[in-house]
Amino acid sequence: MNNQFVFLFDQSEKGKKELLGGKGANLAEMTRIGLPVPYGFTITTAACNAYYDAGQVISKEVESQVLEALHTLETKTDKRLGDPANPLLVSVRSGAVHSMPGMMDTVLNLGMNDDTVEGMAELTNNPRFAYDSYRRFIQMFSNVVLDVDNYFFEQRLEDFREEKGYHSDTELTAEDWIQVIAAFKSIVLKQVKRKFPEDPKEQLFLTINAVFDSWNNQRAVLYRRLHHIPGHLGTAVNIQSMVFGNMGDDSGTGVAFTRNPSTGESKLYGEYLINAQGEDVVAGIRTPQPIASLQEDMPDVYQQLVETCQLLENHYKDMQDIEFTVEGGNLFILQTRTGKRTAQAAIRTAVEMVKEKIMDQREALLRVDPDQLDQLLHHRIDPEHKREQLAAGLPASPGAATGQVVFDADEAEELSRDGKKVILVRPETTPDDIHGIVAAQATVTSRGGMTSHAAVVARGMGKACICGCDSIKIHLESKQFIAGSTTVNHGDTITIDGSTGEIFLGEIPMIEPELSDEFQLLLRWSDEEAKMGVRANADNPVDAEKALEFGAGGIGLCRTEHMFMDASRIPTVQSMILSETTAERKESLDKLLPMQQQDFEQIFETMQGHPITVRLLDPPLHEFLPDKEELLVEVTKLQLTDPHSSELEEKQNLLRKVRLLEESNPMLGHRGCRLGMIHPEIYEMQVKAIFNAMANVMDKGINVTSEIMIPLVSHVNELKKMRQLVTTIGDQIQGETGKTFDYLIGTMIETPRAALTADQIAEEADFFSFGTNDLTQTTFGFSRDDAEGKFLQHYVDRDVLKRNPFVSLDQEGVGKLVESGVKLGRKTKSTLKTGICGEHGGEKESIQFCFDLGMDYVSCSPFRVPSARLAAAQATIRHEQINSKKVPQYS
Ligand code: ADP
Ligand code: MG
Ligand code: MG
Repeated sequence: MNNQFVFLFDQSEKGKKELLGGKGANLAEMTRIGLPVPYGFTITTAACNAYYDAGQVISKEVESQVLEALHTLETKTDKRLGDPANPLLVSVRSGAVHSMPGMMDTVLNLGMNDDTVEGMAELTNNPRFAYDSYRRFIQMFSNVVLDVDNYFFEQRLEDFREEKGYHSDTELTAEDWIQVIAAFKSIVLKQVKRKFPEDPKEQLFLTINAVFDSWNNQRAVLYRRLHHIPGHLGTAVNIQSMVFGNMGDDSGTGVAFTRNPSTGESKLYGEYLINAQGEDVVAGIRTPQPIASLQEDMPDVYQQLVETCQLLENHYKDMQDIEFTVEGGNLFILQTRTGKRTAQAAIRTAVEMVKEKIMDQREALLRVDPDQLDQLLHHRIDPEHKREQLAAGLPASPGAATGQVVFDADEAEELSRDGKKVILVRPETTPDDIHGIVAAQATVTSRGGMTSHAAVVARGMGKACICGCDSIKIHLESKQFIAGSTTVNHGDTITIDGSTGEIFLGEIPMIEPELSDEFQLLLRWSDEEAKMGVRANADNPVDAEKALEFGAGGIGLCRTEHMFMDASRIPTVQSMILSETTAERKESLDKLLPMQQQDFEQIFETMQGHPITVRLLDPPLHEFLPDKEELLVEVTKLQLTDPHSSELEEKQNLLRKVRLLEESNPMLGHRGCRLGMIHPEIYEMQVKAIFNAMANVMDKGINVTSEIMIPLVSHVNELKKMRQLVTTIGDQIQGETGKTFDYLIGTMIETPRAALTADQIAEEADFFSFGTNDLTQTTFGFSRDDAEGKFLQHYVDRDVLKRNPFVSLDQEGVGKLVESGVKLGRKTKSTLKTGICGEHGGEKESIQFCFDLGMDYVSCSPFRVPSARLAAAQATIRHEQINSKKVPQYS
């Protein structure tokens, strides 16, 4: 069984997506449930991997299995590959495990040659159709297999139309196509120095090779990197008998979504073209018709399509993206897959499918990707602002964006690398423009519909996009576009709204986002399911308010250094740092105390009794001092202009101190609790500010729960000392005020030693918060800034590391330390509270990891709180599914 590399559509078992690829598995599934699918077979992903293992060669074994399946296909269809009297034509289609729309290659009409084309013409009594199909085959095959640039064929065709005075391809007659075919063949001869292969079996195997190869083409590799799809999965190849949408006016081809992929509205949505084949719709070359008009064009087909779509949605219990072709009035389904959708559509679909009883609440929660949600938490155009619309197209992917107009994907990438915001404007986009779409704030195309390439890709990435904006005329040579009487030049600023399809000149003010009712409902469901808390990292009352608004259960990290950075405080902070004696330092600290206390009061008040973890001062002190280089310049200048001034003396003094505090490796230097150890008066001031603030806020009748957190502990003795410091002041202020404070003392676990000795550290701690940013730095021995700037991307590009470990927790390495920290800590103190406050606290896979370790909460930036709430629910549900031996459903 293991060496079966080829499966007929009606032969494979259910659920073999890993082996058959998404397309192949679904073609088989649709065949099984009796839908009209042209017959065929699938060559497995295992064959693809074997192909690569053998140095890009198809083995004899696979070859003979393909020939055997082909024979069955011939028998079933009663046609034969290469038989002029009754030719079988097939498509050879790529199909990976995770759908990668348009990234890999497909060849249609394979089996055509100078003999079979004549047979086709006679059989169908439609020579024009036969020759049109043939020229399409030559073009696709030569492009995909022989690597001839499409440009040559398109240019030739355009010249031909011009010579003949035609406006569109539909005007070409059979005789015309015969001439074009001859011209195409000579293009091939000239470009690749070989004749176009006429033997259908040779065509077939060359194409299978090419589809396997397309797994590693540049755009597929880029797409996988963007979507974290592993490179070792490989693609399957589907060989399927052809049906023809280009047979005349009772034929056509189209794409349908069972619901609107942009808004989620439950209504059939899609586009089609009459008398067209394959890629014509998605390529965006002709702007297609909306699906609703199919009801008039072909009422019976429309009805059948509606019913099929419903059936497929109910079957897969998810929104489907369906490709269909109509041949002579008969409907055929060529593909179905889970529809890519915007966050808005994902939420609406999930909520409505629960209402429609297609699925339950828990299943619905698993259907929404937490990563997508931040699309909804960004700005949108201020509806109050008066503005004049420049042009409008199809609202292909929602969101608003402002940027400079560019007309080229490479340029979009270059400019955005320099920090510029750009909007990519193109007649249409091809899969080779994907890097430009990634780099740009938004994309606008003048041709193509809502299912065109640009639209699908932009929606998948959550980027705003407008398609089919045919009221603008793009002039690529002069780098400008014209909308009505306005000319917009390369570099001009425009604003676009992907939710309405509108384009405006200049920059338009944006407003803060709000959570829709459906979004709120989904988050309430999340909270009902989640067995893990979500807190926010917030340093000031504004962030604290946002955190509450987005549903955070508290603050998991309140950094106190930002309170020191305020411009009005910096002089006091600096004189504190520069003090020669402890007495002097205390004087400055006395001035800082009321300021810091006020900050805490505001935050405590805002949080209304929700717990707040306050971290004592963490960064090295020189971060608060002026820059050394700048000081040096000033001193040098003064030495020349005013050598005896008191200003020079002051600056020299300052420079001396800055030099004194300078560290060769500040990340590993005098920071964190090491500051509190050497200058306890700094931490004392902070702790006093916290307790005074608690007392004052409690006087207003508001509960305060604080968790005082000591950073960068590596030895239990550090924490022991710092704990004493805190309790001494706590006791003192409680005594003075007669109040009892609700507070805990804990530490960050952010050095490997702390994680490894967590059992000792837990003796002195009420809680642990894993600071996984520093822990990642110290475990890898990477400094984050240097790594991200210099080599990390290289590592990820070359699969040295699967993901950037500062974005997604490195579970195998850093994760081991986290695990040891939790386990050892709980061994000493079973009630120990544990959480995570690094950047990872908002990332879904890291959240799952933390949940599986039994952590009590995660903490992330306020804007990531909604997505973390969903991820926490998903982590709970998946964990329970795995424990009850149900297979988890990763979306
Ligand atoms: P992609 O994965 O890029 O969507 P497909 O393999 O789905 O590529 O092929 C693209 C298009 O080619 C399909 O949407 C369909 O319109 C057309 N096509 C593929 N196979 C056939 C077939 N057997 N008969 C008719 N059209 C086909
Ligand atoms: Mg397809
Ligand atoms: Mg840290």
